[in-house]
Amino acid sequence: MEKQKIMINGERLKNTVEAFADFGRTKNNGVTRLALSDEDIKVRKHFRSLCEELGMMVTWDDMGNMYATLEGIANDQPPVVIGSHLDSVEKGGRFDGVLGVLTGLEVVRTMVENGIKPQVPVVVANITNEEGARFEPSLMASGVISGRFNKSNMLKSTDKNGITFGEALRKSGYEGKEENRLKEASAFLELHIEQGPVLETESLQIGVVDCVVGMVCYELEVTGDSDHAGTTPMPLRKDALFAANNLISEIRQNMDKLDERLVYTIGRMNVSPNIHTVIPNKVVFSLEARHQDAETIKQVEEIIQTLHESSGKEKCKVKATKLWDRDTVWFDEKLVYSLERSAKTLGYPYKPMVSGAGHDAQFIATYIPSAMIFVPSVNGKSHAEDELTSWEDCEKGVNVILQTVLDLTTN
Ligand SMILES: [Zn+2]
Repeated sequence: MEKQKIMINGERLKNTVEAFADFGRTKNNGVTRLALSDEDIKVRKHFRSLCEELGMMVTWDDMGNMYATLEGIANDQPPVVIGSHLDSVEKGGRFDGVLGVLTGLEVVRTMVENGIKPQVPVVVANITNEEGARFEPSLMASGVISGRFNKSNMLKSTDKNGITFGEALRKSGYEGKEENRLKEASAFLELHIEQGPVLETESLQIGVVDCVVGMVCYELEVTGDSDHAGTTPMPLRKDALFAANNLISEIRQNMDKLDERLVYTIGRMNVSPNIHTVIPNKVVFSLEARHQDAETIKQVEEIIQTLHESSGKEKCKVKATKLWDRDTVWFDEKLVYSLERSAKTLGYPYKPMVSGAGHDAQFIATYIPSAMIFVPSVNGKSHAEDELTSWEDCEKGVNVILQTVLDLTTN
């Protein structure tokens, strides 16, 4: 006989998400809860007390990451961890990050109320300063505990009022011991809102994430000549902005010939001297591209590296400088499979997908088997007050995580 499936309590999940949104709720029903702000400190306390009510032990490490542990049968075994972040951007939404932490809480609540004692401990984690909205960079604390970022540099990161991350951490009361860091686990599972339109467009409820895509970022500098905008005839000009315009069209044409899953963006552009009576002599712009396959990223770089001179009349010099790159992070195959199987067992329409955005799980994946699922974002919105995921979709997502945690921790 098939076991009766244990499901989470959707109503309780909804109420908890709304209660957490009260910490920093904005006029337009969004949330501002910057890392280690008063709101963040208060929400941490609230999170802690809810976990302790369930009999969990709550600790935090030297980056302020919080870990609430539900004991298992064999407590010397590596735990299963469910986590995300409670911080938000300025005027962000009620779901980004917090939904992943509350997924963990709801999973534990469901296990406790059903009298399930897991084989190994189950940990719910709140990772500090994922957003990097107050203290740069983003993914700060997961970067430190995975050895990607240098801790002392991070402690010096300053907010706009000149307060360092280190000072804010100390003052918050959440500066714990390094030995409390997440060191070992059999799984790190993160549920996150998609922050894009794909699931909604395809009427799917779950995205099982295979990887966080790699990216490359260049800066292009186009150099022309500044002259008077009224006295210089058109054929005698070296207008760097018209040149940049041609260059951008060329980039677009060439990039569009590559894989259709490639995304690329010119997000920043500076025009000098930026005066309406002067022909621009310099244009500097960023060009970033993202794709899961290293080969495609290589093709992007080849295109960029052939750009030495702009086409068209202007013939301005072009200089391309690589700013940085990041390799694709593939999630643990077994965990990805186990999340897919959970979605299938529960009868929820899902698809494998990639993450174009960065998440803590991508750093943690470098030393702990990790995987993620996405739930749909209405209109693809995030980092905005009208960010929304339907309560039904939240509930389904958490059920997928619960099912997977039960598979991993019970017989
Ligand atoms: Zn997030």
